[in-house]
Amino acid sequence: MDEKERIEQGLACFRDDVRATHAYPVQSAEGMVKLDVMENPFRLSAELQRKLGERLGAVAINRYPAEGTQRLAAALARHAGMPQGCAITLGNGSDELITMLGMACAKPGTVVLAPTPTFVMYEISARYQGQRFVGVPLRADFELDGPAMLEAIKEHRPAIIYLSYPNNPTGNLWDAAVIEQIVRAAPGLVVMDEAYQPFADSDSMALMQRHPHVLIMRTMSKFGLAGVRIGYLIGNEALIHEVDKVRPPFNVSVLNAEAGMFALEHVDVYDAQAAELRAQRERVFAALRAMPGIEPYPSQGNMILARVADAAKTFAAMKARGVLVKNSSAAHPALANCLRITIGSADENTAMLAALEASL
Ligand code: PMP
Repeated sequence: MDEKERIEQGLACFRDDVRATHAYPVQSAEGMVKLDVMENPFRLSAELQRKLGERLGAVAINRYPAEGTQRLAAALARHAGMPQGCAITLGNGSDELITMLGMACAKPGTVVLAPTPTFVMYEISARYQGQRFVGVPLRADFELDGPAMLEAIKEHRPAIIYLSYPNNPTGNLWDAAVIEQIVRAAPGLVVMDEAYQPFADSDSMALMQRHPHVLIMRTMSKFGLAGVRIGYLIGNEALIHEVDKVRPPFNVSVLNAEAGMFALEHVDVYDAQAAELRAQRERVFAALRAMPGIEPYPSQGNMILARVADAAKTFAAMKARGVLVKNSSAAHPALANCLRITIGSADENTAMLAALEASL
């Protein structure tokens, strides 16, 4: 066999659906105003960055992660107000928790269900683990379609229902009474994905306490540590115990754990940033409302979804002006001509609004 045939032999091992798709796209943003993936725009002050460097420099990197990650898990549990009888497990970002949940629940015929459009990893992860994903369209105003959700739950009996709360990319929270109905009807787990909780008037802990099949997933990414990769899942002890069995044993590095601890010790800094981003979100929303040719949707996250006449054209023109947002059009039919704009610093938002106005 020659080299080409050997490579072919290797390629033939990969699943057809894997070969037919592409890796998760990460847009290059060198030198641009980067408002595409809901990052916190604020870096630490020079003083805190120096202190963090000292802390990281003192970490023993020759050993596998152990006590450091346990300390971080305990600190995150305290930070989130984890109730009695619950446990926490950590992921390398909440993306990994979605993979872990899928892996731990992947029986033949398992169904994962979510209202759509929503965060794409629920579907991608389900597909790669041989599960069927059922998406239930949101209403035109992006509110949950209660009857359709209940009908789909009855028909498909999902093992996992994901509710992104607030929802990515639409930014909104949903009617609490409808969520309560969904939770009551669910035959399996309900995961409240609270990635955007730092910017929202919501907290699903009480829901979880009333209904122990509800799990709460959060991340330090939107809080301000997207580069560090720490997600966490809180729920009834017995349920978290099962999820934890499929966790890659040393999935959170010692450096990540130390950086996470450092951030929690400076929670006031991050709380102030979240407050500033909420205020900026209201400012941007008002400006978009006043701008002809664009229709923004109300948001409780650090992003605003907005519909324009021609999203591809506006996206490209903004990019040419040095501002990167996300063109969400292709992700779902309900998002046709929608741009998802991350909330940045005051200066970034000013630049974004100017570029947008010139690009419509
Ligand atoms: N959940 C939602 C709703 C998200 O939008 C994202 C990222 N955009 C994630 C989870 C994953 O976040 P991370 O892996 O950075 O924790």
